[in-house]
Amino acid sequence: MSWDTPERQLLRATTRRFTEREIVPHLPAWEEAGELPRSLHRAAAKAGLLGVGFPESVGGSGGDPIDVQIIVEEMILSGGSSGLIAGLFTHGIGLPHLVAANDQDQLDRFVRPVLAGENIAALAVTEPEGGSDVAALRTRAVRDGDHYVVTGSKLFITSGIRADAVTTAVRTGGPGAGGISLLVIERGTPGFTVSAPLKKMGWWCSDTAELRFDEVRVPAANLVGAENSGFGQLMTQFAAERLGLAVQAYATAARCLALTLDWVKIRETFDRPLASRQVVRHKLAEMARRTDVARTYTRAVIDDWMADPTHGDLVSRVAMAKNTAVAACDEVVDTAGNCTAAWATCVSPRWSGTTATAASSASAAAPPRS
Ligand SMILES: Cc1cc2nc3c(=O)[nH]c(=O)nc-3n(C[C@H](O)[C@H](O)[C@H](O)COP(=O)(O)OP(=O)(O)OC[C@H]3O[C@@H](n4cnc5c(N)ncnc54)[C@H](O)[C@@H]3O)c2cc1C
Repeated sequence: MSWDTPERQLLRATTRRFTEREIVPHLPAWEEAGELPRSLHRAAAKAGLLGVGFPESVGGSGGDPIDVQIIVEEMILSGGSSGLIAGLFTHGIGLPHLVAANDQDQLDRFVRPVLAGENIAALAVTEPEGGSDVAALRTRAVRDGDHYVVTGSKLFITSGIRADAVTTAVRTGGPGAGGISLLVIERGTPGFTVSAPLKKMGWWCSDTAELRFDEVRVPAANLVGAENSGFGQLMTQFAAERLGLAVQAYATAARCLALTLDWVKIRETFDRPLASRQVVRHKLAEMARRTDVARTYTRAVIDDWMADPTHGDLVSRVAMAKNTAVAACDEVVDTAGNCTAAWATCVSPRWSGTTATAASSASAAAPPRS
């Protein structure tokens, strides 16, 4: 599939203008503040960017998963950060289950206000006892008349501090994958409390929280899809989440490479720019190779996944795309840190996006050049 149609070039241009005008001047302050303002969600909705990938029938702007990834790529390439993507587009992981379930009341109450930029959505699966083993989750929801009574807690929840409604994985049945359901739990429901923001190594502007549920009464009308079908719903949507993270990773690598190229051209040591040294050029070539391989492979997997998400080996290829791109990002960011030396130890506003993304390579900072 083409990632470069005239329509997608326009989408890129719109995204770039939006990022340069509405995001870049404010991002350092948001990274320090630890969260994004709600006004940004409204502005992104007004620009037609927030609802891309969601059908117009539920309040979205239409478009497909490639269009969504064009926005992600371009926001990062124009100076946004991966944390910004996580915080601004949390509904990309929080809402698809509701859209697939297609309950009109839920679409009106929980989907439309988020795509209009008025509300914020989140997805809560991980628990303090663990995140990888989703089938073992413990948060319990017991049916009581026309409500569920929810008790338990969720950890590391993106946009958890700000979220108005949280798509929450709960145990409604017996042990294992077959006993899990999805319930939308609204902020302000008695017994639902939110921790102080968790302080992370990166993704600073993306607020992250622990959510606690102490006998929270949730209307049964907030059940997403059929009872005990939650595991399947989650696994279906995890593919898109993993692919989105892969795109964030190769886009971050590409941004990092571009900034490093600028730097080595102007930084002189021993009377010559760094870019004139063969050892530095080898490093740049390797950064470019890793970035391009990650981008090419990820895009190919996205194309195949869009053609047939159930095709035999796609689940593993989606996971491999994420791991390939994240490994490339780590390497590229690490080499950028090597080329920029002391600046790599500073979290400068100019580079906070890149450093925030590559949380495991915290040495990605580079110099402010103006
Ligand atoms: C910034 C950030 C934002 C997040 N946002 C959200 C969110 O919005 N919603 C949400 O629900 N969660 C969120 N998470 C949580 C994330 O999904 C979990 O961290 C992830 O699922 C892993 O769970 P865990 O950290 O509990 O690790 P664990 O499950 O405890 O695993 C620990 C380590 O052991 C490895 N491991 C696990 N099982 C095996 C095995 N069988 N064999 C070998 N190795 C194994 C894992 O790969 C991992 O390296 C977020 C996390 C971060 C860091």
